[in-house]
Amino acid sequence: MNRRVTVIGGACQSGLLRLPDIQLVELAHWEVAKLLDISGEPLMRHVTRQRHAMPQYHVGHQNRIAKINERLLPFETLALAGNSLNGVDVPGCIESGQKAAERIANALRTGSRTIVQKPVMS
Ligand SMILES: Cc1cc2nc3c(=O)[nH]c(=O)nc-3n(C[C@H](O)[C@H](O)[C@H](O)COP(=O)(O)OP(=O)(O)OC[C@H]3O[C@@H](n4cnc5c(N)ncnc54)[C@H](O)[C@@H]3O)c2cc1C
Repeated sequence: MNRRVTVIGGACQSGLLRLPDIQLVELAHWEVAKLLDISGEPLMRHVTRQRHAMPQYHVGHQNRIAKINERLLPFETLALAGNSLNGVDVPGCIESGQKAAERIANALRTGSRTIVQKPVMS
């Protein structure tokens, strides 16, 4: 017996979220069975719905991120990381986490005294 995780949907197929579990299972099974030449039915099925699971980058995203980074410059002990910045894949997220940690560690090593203040809402 083997375990299979099938991820379907995404921002371009958000209508799939409205389908009942049974239809999602059938669709996932049909797609994978066709690819892997599986003839049997799954013994167990489990559906997890993840709404808004992935950030969607819009036109101008890189400029927006560049501006955010520019505004962060004075706050040396503040750093951002994660999939909403420069890539949604796990390696990209790890890299952004490492860079963020390095930025803060460097600032602390060089004795930065910048205090991160509560943002002023305008
Ligand atoms: C279904 C699915 C399949 C995927 N498959 C792949 C794949 O095969 N390969 C691949 O490279 N990438 C894949 N990805 C993308 C990748 O997994 C994610 O983009 C990445 O894990 C996001 O990492 P992150 O650190 O930015 O966010 P997360 O891993 O979501 O971490 C954010 C953390 O912050 C916590 N948090 C949230 N709000 C607060 C708060 N207010 N206070 C404190 N903590 C908070 C959360 O609990 C969470 O632990 C997939 C994503 C999804 C959803």
